[in-house]
Amino acid sequence: MSTDNGSETRNFLEQIIEDDLRTGRVKKVATRFPPEPNGYLHIGHAKSICLNFGLARKYKGTCNLRFDDTNPTTEEVEYVESIKEDVRWLGFDWEGREYYASDYFEKLHDWAVKMIRDGNAYVDSQSEEEIASSRGNFYKKGTESPFRNRTVEENLDLFARMRAGEFPAGSHVLRARIDMQSGNMNLRDPIMYRIVHASHHRTRDRFCIYPMYDWAHGQSDAIEGITHSICTLEFENHRALYDWFAKATGVEDPPHQHEFARLNLTYTVMSKRILLRLVKDGLVTGWDDPRMPTISGMRRRGYPPEAIRRFCDQIGVAKNESMVDVALLEHCVRERLNEMAPRYMGVLRPLRLVIENMPDDHEEMLKCPLHPEDPSLGFRMVPFSRVVYVEREDFREDPPKKWHRLAPGKEVRLRYACLVTVKDVIKDSRGEVVEIRCTWDPLSAGGNAPDGRKVRGTLHWVSAGNFVDADVRLYDRLFTRENPLDLAEGESFTDFLNPASMERIDGCKLEPALARVTGHVQLERLGYFIVDPIDSGPGRPVLNRTVSLRDSWAKIEKAMDME
Ligand code: ATP
Ligand code: MG
Repeated sequence: MSTDNGSETRNFLEQIIEDDLRTGRVKKVATRFPPEPNGYLHIGHAKSICLNFGLARKYKGTCNLRFDDTNPTTEEVEYVESIKEDVRWLGFDWEGREYYASDYFEKLHDWAVKMIRDGNAYVDSQSEEEIASSRGNFYKKGTESPFRNRTVEENLDLFARMRAGEFPAGSHVLRARIDMQSGNMNLRDPIMYRIVHASHHRTRDRFCIYPMYDWAHGQSDAIEGITHSICTLEFENHRALYDWFAKATGVEDPPHQHEFARLNLTYTVMSKRILLRLVKDGLVTGWDDPRMPTISGMRRRGYPPEAIRRFCDQIGVAKNESMVDVALLEHCVRERLNEMAPRYMGVLRPLRLVIENMPDDHEEMLKCPLHPEDPSLGFRMVPFSRVVYVEREDFREDPPKKWHRLAPGKEVRLRYACLVTVKDVIKDSRGEVVEIRCTWDPLSAGGNAPDGRKVRGTLHWVSAGNFVDADVRLYDRLFTRENPLDLAEGESFTDFLNPASMERIDGCKLEPALARVTGHVQLERLGYFIVDPIDSGPGRPVLNRTVSLRDSWAKIEKAMDME
């Protein structure tokens, strides 16, 4: 199934390709990733990218990046640029084969003229509503337009004048002349061109007629010599139309289309229309909001590209729709970060802990490994002194049973430093604990009990004399419902936005080595984090938590194993 882990089972696309290579239908595999530049890419697109570029790589073929930019009113250069950045970041290279459907507008136009000449296309002057209603539906056959039998000359003249800008939008369209009775709705004389008086991000004002997606898409694949046009299942019924267009225009050796199931993820919305709405309505901070399922959001959140590729590899490709548990994606992120992220300590909600029997001027530099399993990452020096910050949550004045952390009389380990025992707590006038007073065992350097006595709790901490201030953001799922688009009458997906999807904690304390870090880190016991590239100020990092350390997928897998 996979390209990355060397496993030998082949998915259905790999089988098709290997057959095509063996029988000689195809000499060299040519795929493409064909986004419409009307939004930022999301994790669903990542699946398509990994698939198309992955197959090309595996079979030593090529994969084009082609923008299907047929709709001037929704498309923008900003989207083109973001798509290129995201594909590159995911680790794929189109090696200069960056194409645009709009590059083919002239060619498509010439083909349309040929189709008119051959009686395969006509100008329809019905209104939009008339065209829609005469199309019928699944139960009702369509009816032919009164303009369907215009002469070739009249059609050529009208089409030329459409292009010349003589008509207002909506007055005429060019339609393929196929079959209004067809059981396949896509074949009921689909519209090929409509008049749109709008400037295009590439062709500017050269055209005021624009090809419909279905007309441009398959023909663009044909122009580029794509051998395997891979797309999602909703295009299955469009295949007959693409084949018809190829035939009508005399394309030799047309591409073969193969459909796979799109990625659906729990607690996640992947429709660009809805993502755009979240952005436009200010429900998130932008396309790259770390809670967004966009590639740019995930990058900012700290998801490594290898983790996304690994995830796409693991879910595989299939012919039937399914819903993937978002916990699997988070698991892949955690797995990758566990391998690569150096470990540090940081305290989110600091509480002072004073070691009473330590001299005031005690100042030590502890040599601590950056990764417990990977010595090649080396060490960092962690200052340790008489006053440290510990996590407020790690202290309970009145602890439950089996509490191994700080509580009156309890002994715990300060990671890498020593063992301390709580002697006293100091409260402010409102009764809130502001300081914990402890004593240490001077023989417990490094955190080891000198007599081998058992100390269960190990806590992270930061020296109060030497630290970096930081603000931290913790994230949770953006939606509270597993399928936020499975809506009952009167419900809106916005009803299921998670009000707790972002928690901002200011005034966190980090160990000083973190002042210089820019990549991924693990803060021990708290999760994996990355410095936010946009909101961090000089000397004041903002850290995004990529994922916590709790792996709910591992639990699910374990439960499945036990069944
Ligand atoms: P959306 O439906 O999210 O608005 P789209 O399909 O309109 O997206 P395109 O820009 O047309 O977005 O998509 C580019 C390619 O990515 C297409 O080949 C499409 O089939 C594929 N793709 C889009 N969404 C998914 C998904 N969830 N899973 C797998 N492939 C996808
Ligand atoms: Mg699409």
